[in-house]
Amino acid sequence: MWKIQTTKINEIYRFTDYFIKDLMDWAIANPNIQCTEFDTIQSTKINDKLKSLAERYEVLRRIMSQLSCAPDIKNISEAYVMCTTCYKDILNGSMNSPLLEAETKTMVIKAFRYFYNYLIDQEYFWHTYNQYDPFVSKSQFRQDVGMKRKVCPYCDASKITTSRRTNTDHFLPITQVPLLGIYWENLIVSCVSCNNILVKGDDFKLPITHPFFDETADHVFFSFDDKLHTIDINGATDAEKNFIEVFKLKDTYKNEWDQVSFTHKLLTKRIIKRFKNTPNKDDIPLLINEEVADYMAILYDFVRRKEYTKLNLEVCNYFKALHLDAFTSYLLFEETL
Ligand SMILES: [Zn+2]
Repeated sequence: MWKIQTTKINEIYRFTDYFIKDLMDWAIANPNIQCTEFDTIQSTKINDKLKSLAERYEVLRRIMSQLSCAPDIKNISEAYVMCTTCYKDILNGSMNSPLLEAETKTMVIKAFRYFYNYLIDQEYFWHTYNQYDPFVSKSQFRQDVGMKRKVCPYCDASKITTSRRTNTDHFLPITQVPLLGIYWENLIVSCVSCNNILVKGDDFKLPITHPFFDETADHVFFSFDDKLHTIDINGATDAEKNFIEVFKLKDTYKNEWDQVSFTHKLLTKRIIKRFKNTPNKDDIPLLINEEVADYMAILYDFVRRKEYTKLNLEVCNYFKALHLDAFTSYLLFEETL
C-alpha cells in the first residue's frame, strides 16, 4: 500500500533481461532445431554465455528447441520486449498485454516457471550472466528485502518476516503475462497471504497501482461503522479500486475494529495527560488537535516498519471528527472540578 523505495536489492534480477534476449535471438537465428543434444546446440550460431548454460542444463536445451521450433518465435520475442519496455503502460491500462496463441502461451508459461523456480536460484546461471554481484539465492533475496522493509506492500497488515513465511509474488501473474516471470519490476516480496491470493489471480484487474510506482496509500480511504464495528476501504480511481479488489483488502480490514478501539484508547490517554500537563487550557480543541498530530507524526515514522500505519492514521482523523466536540466538553467539565 505504501510505495516501495526501490534499491539495488529490488533490482537484483535486472541481469535476466540479457539472458532472455540472448535466448530469443538464438531461437530466431536458428529455426527448427529439434534436437536437444548439446552437440547439436553448440554447432548452431550461439554466444558463449548461452552455450555454457545449454551445456549444463538439459531442461534449458529443451526449452531452446521448443522456442526454435515455434512458428511465432518473432512474435514471442517482440511480446517480451513490449512487456518489459511498456510495463507501466500495461499496469495503467493504456496498453494491453501482448496476446500469445494458446499453445505458445502454455509453452512459455512452462519455460518461465522453470526459469523462476529453478534457474535464477542457480549460482552457475547467476555468474554466467552477472559477473559483478555476488550470488544471492531467492530466499536470501527475500530476507534482504524483509530486513529493509518490514511490512507487506500490498496489505500493510502483515509483516514481511525473514523466515520462510515470506513470498516473492509475481505482480502480473505468470499465468496471464508469463513473459514477465523473471522480470525484476514484476517481482514483489509480500506476505504469504497476499501472495496466495494472487496464485488464483486469473481475475487480475487492470488498471492497477503498483508498489514500485504508486503511493497507493495516499489514494485509498477507510470508513468506520461505529455501530456494527466494521471497517470499509475504498479507492479514489479504478486503479486503486482494482488494487483493493485484487488483494481482497476489504476482507483484510473489515473486522479489524480492535485497531480502532486501541488507537482511540491510546489517544484518550494521551490527550488527558497533555491536558493535565498544560497550564494554559484556553484552547482545548487546539490541545486535542496538537496531541493527535503528535501521535500521527509517530505513526508516520513507523510507515513501512509497523503494520496498520495507514489504517491508524485514518483512525486518528476519525477520532477527531467523532470526538473533538464531546472531548472538549468533557475536558471543560473536568477543569471546573
Ligand atoms: Zn500482505
